[in-house]
Amino acid sequence: MMTTPFWESTPLDSMTEEQWESLCDGCGKCCLHKLMDEDTDEVYYTNVACSWLNSETCSCKDYANRFQSGEECLKLTRDKISEFNWLPETCSYRVLAEGKPLPAWHPLITGDKKAMHDAGESVKDSVVYEIDVVDWEDHVLNHPNRS
Ligand code: SF4
Ligand code: SF4
Repeated sequence: MMTTPFWESTPLDSMTEEQWESLCDGCGKCCLHKLMDEDTDEVYYTNVACSWLNSETCSCKDYANRFQSGEECLKLTRDKISEFNWLPETCSYRVLAEGKPLPAWHPLITGDKKAMHDAGESVKDSVVYEIDVVDWEDHVLNHPNRS
């Protein structure tokens, strides 16, 4: 008998900590530096990664200590759901907060990150680091909320 997966049956603010954490697809997009337009408050993603991001695995090099990284790492919490529009359009938290279904390549559906990487929906091998930056303007991605 088919059972409804928790992300379809349980609202974000009612999920257990384990469910909440498992929603993260590990794409690494939120670990890219962002620029904000001072006039419009629009957020622009760049292809410049946080120095703690492993660009091959798209994982944090020290996830447990990320808030001591000095990189202004933010914790996504349930009380900030209404502010999730700064996250990438494909971010699971934003997708569910907007009432949309998780994409077919999501690791919770496929079992691992391969389909996500194959679909180009992660930052795998596609970023540079701050030490490489001469002019930030050259690193702004065309689509503000995508990487
Ligand atoms: S963008 Fe969202 S789903 Fe992707 S790594 Fe960041 S928090 Fe997780
Ligand atoms: S400290 Fe880790 S989790 Fe936080 S932005 Fe950097 S790479 Fe991402």
